[in-house]
Amino acid sequence: MLWHMPRNTKKIYLTFDDGPIPEVTPPVLEMLGQWNAKATFFCVGENVQKHPQVLKQVVEQGHRLGNHTFHHLKGVEVSTETYLQDTALCQQLLQPELSEAAPMLFRPPYGRFTKGQRTALSAQYRLVMWDVLSADYDSRLSPQVCLQKSIRYTRPGSIIVFHDSLKAWDRLQWVLPRYLEHFSRKGFTFATL
Ligand SMILES: [Zn+2]
Repeated sequence: MLWHMPRNTKKIYLTFDDGPIPEVTPPVLEMLGQWNAKATFFCVGENVQKHPQVLKQVVEQGHRLGNHTFHHLKGVEVSTETYLQDTALCQQLLQPELSEAAPMLFRPPYGRFTKGQRTALSAQYRLVMWDVLSADYDSRLSPQVCLQKSIRYTRPGSIIVFHDSLKAWDRLQWVLPRYLEHFSRKGFTFATL
């Protein structure tokens, strides 16, 4: 499983989970565009099915896609068979937008899956975790604290998790532009996985 990228370059790997949705994903793309930042979007199949145009926008702007199951399943609560089927369903929806050459990416919702699920998926996917959790989904957290923590824990090669979800938007819309500005001014660039 991938927790971070090489530490010897000034690159940060932004990831956005749980989209794409029309209320949040397009403004996120706009913010990324302002700093020429590229990111990886771990999509929920249900949202891809509902909002194919938003998915297209993500791809057209040079970002990368990853699989985050169809129903945002918690692996430990379902059988391996169900989990693999759900993941395959999401992959079918993403496939038309993926380039043949790049390995397929998968991130387990909640960061939790069973050993059996992990082993089965690792044959087919690059499993992507993270080393920085922004906790943008946590409504008890002020945007200021969310930003401070995100900045404090980010290192060269970090993979940071944000969410293009309604739950996270209150914080994300404040945190993301400032996070991008902070690290851009320090000479970092933002790359896809
Ligand atoms: Zn998720």
